[in-house]
Amino acid sequence: MSVPVLEIRGVSKSFPGVKALDDVSFAIARGEVVGLIGENGAGKSTLLKILNGVYQPDSGEILVDGRSVSVASPRQAFDSGIAMVFQEQSILPTLTVAENIFLGREEEFIRFGLISRSRMHAAAAEELRKVHLDIDPGMRCADLAFAARQMVEIAKALSLNSRIKGHVTILLDEPTSVLEQKEVDLLFRIIRDLRDRASFVFISHRLEEVLDISDRVYVMRDGKVVKELSARSASVKDLHQLMVGRQLHHEYYREARQVPPSPAVVLAAEGLSRHGAFHDVSFDLHEGEVLGIAGVVGSGREDLARCLAGHRRPDSGTLHIAGAAVRFAAPHEAAGAGVGLVPAERKVEGLVAPFSVAENMTLAALPRFVSHGAIRFAAELGVARDWIERLKIKTPSPDTMVGSLSGGNQQKVVLAKWRIAGVRVLILDHPTRGIDVGAKEDVYDLIRDMTAEGLAVILLGDTLEEVIGLSSRILVMRDGAITARLDAPPGGKPRQVDILRHMV
Ligand code: ADP
Ligand code: MG
Repeated sequence: MSVPVLEIRGVSKSFPGVKALDDVSFAIARGEVVGLIGENGAGKSTLLKILNGVYQPDSGEILVDGRSVSVASPRQAFDSGIAMVFQEQSILPTLTVAENIFLGREEEFIRFGLISRSRMHAAAAEELRKVHLDIDPGMRCADLAFAARQMVEIAKALSLNSRIKGHVTILLDEPTSVLEQKEVDLLFRIIRDLRDRASFVFISHRLEEVLDISDRVYVMRDGKVVKELSARSASVKDLHQLMVGRQLHHEYYREARQVPPSPAVVLAAEGLSRHGAFHDVSFDLHEGEVLGIAGVVGSGREDLARCLAGHRRPDSGTLHIAGAAVRFAAPHEAAGAGVGLVPAERKVEGLVAPFSVAENMTLAALPRFVSHGAIRFAAELGVARDWIERLKIKTPSPDTMVGSLSGGNQQKVVLAKWRIAGVRVLILDHPTRGIDVGAKEDVYDLIRDMTAEGLAVILLGDTLEEVIGLSSRILVMRDGAITARLDAPPGGKPRQVDILRHMV
């Protein structure tokens, strides 16, 4: 390869408890489309965010046209000809289409000291034309359908091409997962048209797409690049095998272990409302099922989860557990009725850091370990040892302070705590956020084990894909109300687009 337009050498990046990138090298040639694939959590988004200046590498080098550079911010990346379409969209719903496309670059439109709206709208209209999006640049993005927002996001990245002289590199992080086929075709046509001036990095889970559009493909696994190959000579089957790195795909979300929910209703919510958060929410939760709740920040799903677990109180509506009406004033009342919450912020709410693994595990079931006013430490230790072994928790001993364990192992301690307490309903709020891929699979296994024993799970997943993969049914929330109820049996899973259209 001649001097790459963009290259990274030996880059590593850690987040607390997980090494997201481990000595990664990666290069893009002029006019090239590079595919980047790997399972969830492999490190793909982190790699692109480092190229785009969102994150700084812990070690290693970034080179532009063969020169070592530091990319301190997305703005600086843009000025050196790099733009990104983010997996979690970066469009701001309260701004107009034109304002979003030129966010942070308003000074390009200043005339006589003021931003010229008409010039900005004219320039935006030009960019929208390129992606065949026939909308008014002055409309608010909140009023757009999800796929249209994604096309605005793409137009924003592509606008780099008309703003920067010379060659540009456009990073596309799963741009197609929310698009219909005709929009995907359009995007690919645009990519092919721009190739004399632009290079692309393209991430997708749809391997056919990756082979169709890419010249070369990088395969990532557990934070490492495990293979670089020409797209011409590769097949979908090859790529799949390289991604999972095992002969037999150890199926990620354990869909094969998903069982149909039993008819027995363990929790029933009827007309639950909390002012300013959610309103008139009704649903049944069955024994042994995983009920996913999908929704963006502000949809009300976090508040709903907290009300179900007694951390907050609803203003109206009723809640029944196994047929009996309940009203929780505090989390311990919910725990007493058999409802536990595994919060997203483990360090804040889920665990007591200066306590040991064993103490944390037995916390929610403490009365069982107390006799005549004293804690029965031997009993506590015995139960803790048992669960450490069952859940393969990596800890030097049950007496180790829980705060010193990795994120994935802390998460298992929280799950053990609620299993020991004997809950019937477990609410999991982002249970796999910030834990490594091996620990994620362990958590998925655990969820299947627990539901097989009849436990019912309410899941607020980290990604839509995770919600789809794990759930038997999915509720979609928007602006505090349920907008859709979808069945998600193995083999009949809804697509992300089917859910997204009810989410925003
Ligand atoms: P991919 O895009 O391939 O699914 P990511 O790059 O998003 O993978 O994530 C790689 C790993 O880094 C995962 O284990 C993920 O949980 C973790 N991770 C990513 N971003 C953060 C963050 N901001 N804080 C903590 N952990 C993170
Ligand atoms: Mg990603």
